[in-house]
Amino acid sequence: MPYVCSDCPRECGAIRNEYSGEGFCGAGERIAVAKVMRHMWEEPVLTSGRGTENIFIYGCNLGCVYCQNYKINGSSGRPDTSKISFLTPEEFGALLVERSETDADTVGIVTGDHYIRQIAEAITPEIKARVKKPLVFNMSGYSKSEAIALLKGKIDIFMPDLKYVSEELAKEYSSAPDYPSRAKETIQKCFEMTGPAVLDENTNLMKSGVIVRHLILPGSFPNTAGVIDYINETFRPGDIVFSLMSQYTPVTAVPGVMAHPKLSRRISAAEHKKAVEYLSACENITYCFCQERSSSGEDFIPDFD
Ligand code: SF4
Repeated sequence: MPYVCSDCPRECGAIRNEYSGEGFCGAGERIAVAKVMRHMWEEPVLTSGRGTENIFIYGCNLGCVYCQNYKINGSSGRPDTSKISFLTPEEFGALLVERSETDADTVGIVTGDHYIRQIAEAITPEIKARVKKPLVFNMSGYSKSEAIALLKGKIDIFMPDLKYVSEELAKEYSSAPDYPSRAKETIQKCFEMTGPAVLDENTNLMKSGVIVRHLILPGSFPNTAGVIDYINETFRPGDIVFSLMSQYTPVTAVPGVMAHPKLSRRISAAEHKKAVEYLSACENITYCFCQERSSSGEDFIPDFD
């Protein structure tokens, strides 16, 4: 049934029909799945080498101008519907079960902030019981607490981004000046629902908890430092896992990025070193990962064709 959506902070009040909607994200009722693939490069607490079975969701409610997954973020106008599967909650639940029966270490949903209501409906107690692997929910962080609450007991590991603490950057790059406050609320709500991180003492694989990711952007060290400060000042040692990502790649197919004075280059070695050193000095961030700077490049972006 079509419904009027105010599920995320955009609060469009837009009608969502079966396959598409009139809101910022363009999402309809059915969950649009762009790709299902084994991903080998998630954080080491999510894989022992067998990877994560990732279900990539089409579209986004944030729409960052530099999006690394621009082919599936919905920014390219009308999607090629022949390449998208529009699933009912029942079908999506069955897909989760099917992917959990592979030999992957974890099952991931990437990035589904604009489908939280439908994903919550998909993960019934029966489906949850049949998904034998930790279920990871990768998020942009631009969500509402009341929506996230629908996922209580259904997701094992929440993986929200904290992209910006700067309202100016959030406005310029994602048209969402309230992103910093919303993302902080998202992270705290996820932590309230999972509690501190739990890792298997034999494998070091994560069983439950929150992983906060931050992508270092070129020319934006004060923002990265502010993100690290927020995590360091908000959580106690061992509470959450923090992942500092350096894979930012200017996507050549997006003209606005290639012409942008800051976004048209990768981060420099000096920027990478400065961020890693800043993080290393934080006493309360004890579970953390830092990507090598060499992890950037379009080769590291999954091929969504
Ligand atoms: S989920 Fe989509 S339609 Fe709903 S409020 Fe957010 S951007 Fe608008």
